[in-house]
Amino acid sequence: MTMRPYLLASDLDGTLIPTHRSAQGLREVAELVDAFQANQQLLLAYVTGRHLSLAQAGIEEVGLPSPDWYVCDVGTSVYRRKNGDFEPDETYRQAMRAAYGGLVGDDIRHAIGTVAGMELQEEDKQAEFKVSYYTRGRPEPLVDTVQSRLGKACVNLNLVASYDPVAERGLLDVLPAGIAKDYAVRYLQRQSGVDEQHLVYAGDSGNDRAAMLAGYPAIVVGNADDALKKDLVTESAPRGLADQIYFAEHASARGVLEGLRHFGALKR
Ligand SMILES: [Mg+2]
Repeated sequence: MTMRPYLLASDLDGTLIPTHRSAQGLREVAELVDAFQANQQLLLAYVTGRHLSLAQAGIEEVGLPSPDWYVCDVGTSVYRRKNGDFEPDETYRQAMRAAYGGLVGDDIRHAIGTVAGMELQEEDKQAEFKVSYYTRGRPEPLVDTVQSRLGKACVNLNLVASYDPVAERGLLDVLPAGIAKDYAVRYLQRQSGVDEQHLVYAGDSGNDRAAMLAGYPAIVVGNADDALKKDLVTESAPRGLADQIYFAEHASARGVLEGLRHFGALKR
């Protein structure tokens, strides 16, 4: 009897890629990679806010293996492996186009205009279906202002706020309505055909929240935002998901390894 495969769908920065590239952090990544290699039944998807090229650069930098899928730009693009290369999943792209309600990034930037304490991220962090800003301090207080600038267009949009404790700045992404990492993760589950209980999600920050509450086993790495941990405790219980969310003791890659063992996704 063959073992039914697991799919690890994991965030990169702060989760599989340690925030500080210390020798210890890199050793922990190498331990996790050894565990992946010893478990051929584990499929891999990297689910990141990064662009494809920056995601590929990031995994090479720390020695993570090439995955089966990349979900980039906070869930707004999916790339599948084909002949050793990655190509955009066109079905997914069409779904994004529909979800954005015919808007393009420029329409959104224009409507939002200038907001004190907020600036557009670099051009290489913008994507076809994602407009991204940095905020001074936490982004949450600016959400109302952004929403009012967007007005009626808001029905087609979703604002995702997270905080980067290392750079001490907020991140605010404007995505198509209903689209975040969780939407892409559901899509991957259908595409991969793995059982719901065999898809394990791992993450560390606000843009992982929806995916962690999507009903799949989820690993919250030890270095995750305290506000996120508290929120997940509060939100998971009424949804009956308390047992589905594992708060790892260890940070980053070692926390992911700990969580995969907890959920039985690794043979050893
Ligand atoms: Mg992260």
